[in-house]
Amino acid sequence: MANLVNDNIEFDDNDFEEAWSNAPKLINKDINDFKLCFICKFHMNKKNIINGDLSWNIFIINLKTISLEKNNFIAVHQNCMELRPKLDCTKLVKKIKQSAWMFDENYYK
Ligand SMILES: [Zn+2]
Repeated sequence: MANLVNDNIEFDDNDFEEAWSNAPKLINKDINDFKLCFICKFHMNKKNIINGDLSWNIFIINLKTISLEKNNFIAVHQNCMELRPKLDCTKLVKKIKQSAWMFDENYYK
């Protein structure tokens, strides 16, 4: 469970798992390998937390009413953390999860 310490949120392993499970899935990839970053619509690599190729971090979906509930966490690229589209991205995340997303195989060619 995340903790608020001196205005910084400290996450534990379980929070990272929850954030990952909350990210939109790719219909042609295992959810334990890749998921979609809802901000840039490109895939993230589960192995690379915070560092590495297509690495990700925990993004707080709703900053209007900050809650440290696990359903307020979602994985996004480390590089997309600052590209927040809205203070409250709840509706946007919901909308993106309603679509079917595919892994772009051309990326590694
Ligand atoms: Zn991204």
